[in-house]
Amino acid sequence: MGGLFSKKKKEEKAEPKKEEKKPEPTKAGKDKDEDDDDVHESKDAGELKVSDESSNADDSYSFWDRNKTLKPAKELPKGRANAQKTINATMKATLGGGAELKQAVKLPAGEDVNEWIAVNTVHFYNAANMIYGTCSEFCTDKECPAMSAGKNEYLWKDNVNYKKPTRVTAPTYIDLLLNWVSDQISDPALFPIDEDAKFPRNFMVQVKQIYKRVFRLYAHIYWQHFQKMKAIGATAHLNTCFKHFIYFVLEFDLIRKQDLAPMEKFISKFRDETGKSDKAAAS
Ligand code: ZN
Repeated sequence: MGGLFSKKKKEEKAEPKKEEKKPEPTKAGKDKDEDDDDVHESKDAGELKVSDESSNADDSYSFWDRNKTLKPAKELPKGRANAQKTINATMKATLGGGAELKQAVKLPAGEDVNEWIAVNTVHFYNAANMIYGTCSEFCTDKECPAMSAGKNEYLWKDNVNYKKPTRVTAPTYIDLLLNWVSDQISDPALFPIDEDAKFPRNFMVQVKQIYKRVFRLYAHIYWQHFQKMKAIGATAHLNTCFKHFIYFVLEFDLIRKQDLAPMEKFISKFRDETGKSDKAAAS
């Protein structure tokens, strides 16, 4: 049953519907993303010039705290507070940006995978929010008239106010992005508040969309603002936060390879990193 309505949906573009969620969240054909039309590729933008130093993970997160954030940090519901403690404790124990961080993203024994992803998603939202708060004084409409990262330009589409992929300035894009992520993680239908509540069937599909977009924020900072970040002494911290994010993404396969392309070379530098940290030699 139920075939009558679901089958035709795709052709009904003209119908002025107000959908808050994506209409068809779960599909077998994973590779085709409905938002693939929100990336414009231009000609080669040259090489990404970044350095790969990193620092203590705990320091790296607290570094941004000193700076203003644009939006208030998200608090976790009570049921998830323990998992947040796990993240915090791991960050405190993580001295290097490499092997230990890679270990830190793994699902802790006995933890539910959706819970773990949910808590980390809130963590990565808060981190992205803090990091961009630092960038926002030099990421302006004038400096960044487009949301670019290398040869990619990202267009905003949210199916609510922007039904078609739309060119906006980078600060506008990132503002929309952070608001959108905030809305997603505050939606109890997607991120259940009650400890016993089940995660919805489309949870992973929606979560992947969140990670894809948060990645764009990092990619933009790396491509457009790395020198400024260097000038304020933030690059080791930026790298550590980005590595943590990427290790998590790779561990749970949250972003497709083609979407990681703007940062591919940098990622390949550290994705196979082993035991380079201070503690690596400890027996
Ligand atoms: Zn910018």
